[in-house]
Amino acid sequence: MKIDDVSLFRVEGQWRGSGHPHGSRQSQALDVYPEFNDTGGGSGRVSDELRAISAIYLEIRADDGTTGVFGPIQRSQAFVIHEHLRRFLLGRDPLATEALQDQMLRMNRHGRSGLFMTGVSPVDCALWDLKGKALGLPIFRILGGPTRDAAPAYASMLGFSTEPAAAATRALEYKGMGFTAQKWFFRNGPGDGYEGQRKNLAMAEAVREAVGDGYPLMFDAFMGWTAQYATEMVRLLEPIRPTWMEEPVPPERVGELRRIRQAARVPIATGEHVYTRWQTKELLVGEAVDFLQNDPDWTGGITELVKVCALASAFDVPVVAHGHSLLAALHVAASQSPVTVPYVEYLVQGQESKQHFHKPIYRPSDGMVALPDLPGLGLVVDDDKIDRREELSF
Ligand SMILES: [Mg+2]
Repeated sequence: MKIDDVSLFRVEGQWRGSGHPHGSRQSQALDVYPEFNDTGGGSGRVSDELRAISAIYLEIRADDGTTGVFGPIQRSQAFVIHEHLRRFLLGRDPLATEALQDQMLRMNRHGRSGLFMTGVSPVDCALWDLKGKALGLPIFRILGGPTRDAAPAYASMLGFSTEPAAAATRALEYKGMGFTAQKWFFRNGPGDGYEGQRKNLAMAEAVREAVGDGYPLMFDAFMGWTAQYATEMVRLLEPIRPTWMEEPVPPERVGELRRIRQAARVPIATGEHVYTRWQTKELLVGEAVDFLQNDPDWTGGITELVKVCALASAFDVPVVAHGHSLLAALHVAASQSPVTVPYVEYLVQGQESKQHFHKPIYRPSDGMVALPDLPGLGLVVDDDKIDRREELSF
């Protein structure tokens, strides 16, 4: 079997919003500059109007007609694939995922992290999709699963209002839907001063009070804080017993993460912006992390995430993959011990638009995502939702 085509296509259609009011965005590193730190408070308007939506997919085709598909991906990822990986892949054996991933990791002098790795990762995921279809098996079965019939999904509450009363109501609603854990996103950081810090704490306390003691609650700062600010925040958060505090600072600051981790009894999570097992190792050896979150879309693909799970399990550090796309992380979760991968992340607003062009759409029921029973990833692009399709050639 040989790869005879690697194509990148963009689809356009119409999507009727999430049906939720526009809420708060998360804190970000740029917020220390007032011109980038807008209020971001949301309009209160319900986002259910019909709007244009588009998505980019990668398709790898073998000479026997078997295809592997992955997406949506970003245009920058598509560019790396088109410019650097497409020609390399043509003529190669698509089932040799280990060989191809190792070769892509060695290919470019700047290619061990960052944008280049976000191009390698979807290629690896698409090759696993192709392999699953060629063998007639879901990926988790090829990886040695299933280790369970369905995976617990935690509700990731990005996009909802962080105003305390609104957040508390929403948290209770999602607990009532059967989700057994939730993650909330802080809006404020060092650029918002003492008042912002109080607002962060008020949101966290309101959500904790709503869901009750013992319910797993996580919080995310999206790398928007400094080490000093993060240290103050984890000390303030300690009494409400977060399951983890995510990305208080960027992940390459291993020493800072270790010191924040030691400053309070609040576990630290990071990994969605960590690439490959080698960067992951530094966090583990540096005793800087309690939960890893490498994303298969970015860290080096399904192949790499499986290696990260093996590495992390030797440190007894769970891996809860970032949920940029649900399916790749779900297949890995279903192939690993529930101790190694206790949850998948489900972005309750984001997944509705990310999966818009797919059939079936995978959603948790009672807090659990059933495993796909289709061969490969289980990602089928629904032609009925596509108004226009174009090949990307850059
Ligand atoms: Mg995050």
